[in-house]
Amino acid sequence: MFNSPVSRTVEEAQAELLAQLLPLPVEHVALTAAVGRTVAEDILATEHIPPFANSAMDGYAAQAADLVGASPSAPATLAITAHVPAGAASEHAVVPGTAVRIMTGAPLPPGADVVVPFEATDEVEHPGVASDTVKIFTAYPPQSHIRPAGEDLQPGALVVARGTVLHPGHIAALATVGAAHVPVFRRPRVAILATGDELVAIDQTPDRGQIRNSNSYAAFAQVLEAGGEPLLLPIARDTEADLLARIHMALDLGADLFVTSGGVSVGDYDVVRQVLTAHGTMTFWRVRMRPGKPIMVGMLHAVPLIGLPGNPASAMVCFELFARPAIRALAGCSAVLRPTVPVQLLDHAVVQADRRQYLRVRVAASATGLQARLSGAQGSGITSSLARANGLLVVEAGSATVHPGAVLPALLLAEPFAGG
Ligand code: AMP
Ligand code: MG
Repeated sequence: MFNSPVSRTVEEAQAELLAQLLPLPVEHVALTAAVGRTVAEDILATEHIPPFANSAMDGYAAQAADLVGASPSAPATLAITAHVPAGAASEHAVVPGTAVRIMTGAPLPPGADVVVPFEATDEVEHPGVASDTVKIFTAYPPQSHIRPAGEDLQPGALVVARGTVLHPGHIAALATVGAAHVPVFRRPRVAILATGDELVAIDQTPDRGQIRNSNSYAAFAQVLEAGGEPLLLPIARDTEADLLARIHMALDLGADLFVTSGGVSVGDYDVVRQVLTAHGTMTFWRVRMRPGKPIMVGMLHAVPLIGLPGNPASAMVCFELFARPAIRALAGCSAVLRPTVPVQLLDHAVVQADRRQYLRVRVAASATGLQARLSGAQGSGITSSLARANGLLVVEAGSATVHPGAVLPALLLAEPFAGG
């Protein structure tokens, strides 16, 4: 019988797992394929953005000194000497007593130090009618409605830091600096291996004693959500030979991480534990948490292995706490762990006080902050409460009862629901 190492806290176990993992090699992808990927290098601006001073409004480029004292009853009248649409540039200088008609984004003509929006001119009184002069009804200080060169980014400024998972805002900034291709870490290929003699495929009708393999599909979705590439392998029966055959299939597919489910406790058919101890190295196999104490972490053929427990809720919670950070570490993310946020529990919860517990909850936004209710029964085999949950509430060991109104840390697995 395997001599079990001392069990760890979740944080100790996470640190031990993550210490074994390095980011995967770098590849270059088109910007259209970069959302959700992790940037592999600091991306710096190489030029001024915007590259030239330009107009922030449709209006007239002028000299602020000509507008001093302008009002509806005493407008400043300026001669229009040129028109500059966006995309064009005028070298026609603005001199005292003149203005250049200018569109948003067009380069500021030399000599101008202000843009007067159409709304402050007589343009609105006869739109589209060509005129030689413009009346201006409002004075503006110099630099009004002008976007200076480099207002957004200066050469050398950090646009996106290495380790950032790109969201649409990053894509906007990268497009602005002309990053048509982006260096990103390769997506981790994650082999999903369910073990169990009792398992049947999800499109089969289970006989007595059999159940559908749900864990592989849950893990598949979680791998995608974490930024990995799932490799769904056929169910392994509870024999060393069968599991090893699946492991070799996964190696042939280039797996960067094995995620197994089932076969990690101390029952008679705990095949993942057997394979890992006989053919690899076991880093640890117990963590002080509920659900999911018998999580197993090790290395097999130089590939990290995370052995999730078989019970579906345990498997999903352990995936969230261990496999997701591992995938993000392999993907080179600088923030691998999800932050916890304070959430007020509205229900009364009774838990076992011996270990930290993760409660499945429905978190909703309210005017006073995030609030949660239990999403249903909390047994480790219950999946209906997983379907309803968007968060995991963390109840530390030692507290057997959580009273309504208690504020506890929570992991948000999805957006909070809209509150009432
Ligand atoms: P085990 O850790 O292999 O003893 O499994 C613990 C419990 O989880 C048993 O009730 C199994 O039937 C169940 N289980 C194991 N693997 C899966 C799976 N892939 N999908 C759904 N339930 C599973
Ligand atoms: Mg099993």
